[in-house]
Amino acid sequence: MLAQPIVGLHHVTAIASDPQPNLDFYTQVLGLRLVKRTVNFDDPGTYHFYFGDDVGSPGTILTFFPWPNAERGSAGAGEVTHTAFSVPLASIAYWEQRLTERGLLFESSGHRFQEEVLTLADPDGMKIEIVGHADAGAAHAPRFSDVPAEHAIRGLFGVTMLEIDAEETTKTLAVMGFRKVAEEGNRLRFAAVGNGQAPALGDHIDVIVDPHASFGQSGAGSVHHIAFRVANAASQLEWRAEIGKHIQTTAVLDRDYFQSIYFREPGGVLFELATDNPGFAIDEPLESLGERLCLPGWLESRRLELAERLIPIRLHKAKGLA
Ligand code: ZN
Repeated sequence: MLAQPIVGLHHVTAIASDPQPNLDFYTQVLGLRLVKRTVNFDDPGTYHFYFGDDVGSPGTILTFFPWPNAERGSAGAGEVTHTAFSVPLASIAYWEQRLTERGLLFESSGHRFQEEVLTLADPDGMKIEIVGHADAGAAHAPRFSDVPAEHAIRGLFGVTMLEIDAEETTKTLAVMGFRKVAEEGNRLRFAAVGNGQAPALGDHIDVIVDPHASFGQSGAGSVHHIAFRVANAASQLEWRAEIGKHIQTTAVLDRDYFQSIYFREPGGVLFELATDNPGFAIDEPLESLGERLCLPGWLESRRLELAERLIPIRLHKAKGLA
């Protein structure tokens, strides 16, 4: 175990189709805050949205590459099939009512381990879970959301990956400081060990093992990768060296809001290690996160051209502050 452990997820990144329904679902239904409106650095005529808590805390972030008219993917082995958000156990009834009032279909999966789970699909069919559990922390409730602060999504609870065989994935997670902490049927649960603190956001990495599963097809509604939290650049380099003894990783890449390395775990899921810093307030004030198009320095000279190519979107802000 290295000096500074990996403490859970930093963010999850997924693929969407049309940007407006994606924006509306995550801000108006789930009550998250759009904490960054930027472009896909590899395809700057399209957006990259970041949703999170009010201040864009690591561990609360779900990001999307919306590609208009993108074909839907299909979930399968080697993929993250479910992305879960954390709420207090007592808030599950609120969320059932909220989803019902909006005419949204959801499934109440009852108890899983010690939690209560609601499962629903986003506009692109991506499977989202709202997980009620006893040790949900305090919320940085998004300032424009109409979800009462006590019921607000705290951040990521974790993810579920589907794998044909978990043996090699288990070894990789062990290198990263995660061990199996629970098992229910063919669901294995991994969590970070060694930080000695209350469960961090995004510290529930579930693996469902199904030797007969077919492989997934990436597309709208698919998770592209999951990023784990490292404290800083020095810690990231240590982890890169450690993981590099077993699996090839990329060099450190500058993502403007964090620094990243990537590697593919043996079961097929793309993993990233992302730093906590510098965070989302580096290029716009906290008060107005997500309201303007933010571009990396190397694209700033193309702002007018890119702004014209991007599909116009409207960010609704509840509480009459729009
Ligand atoms: Zn990422």
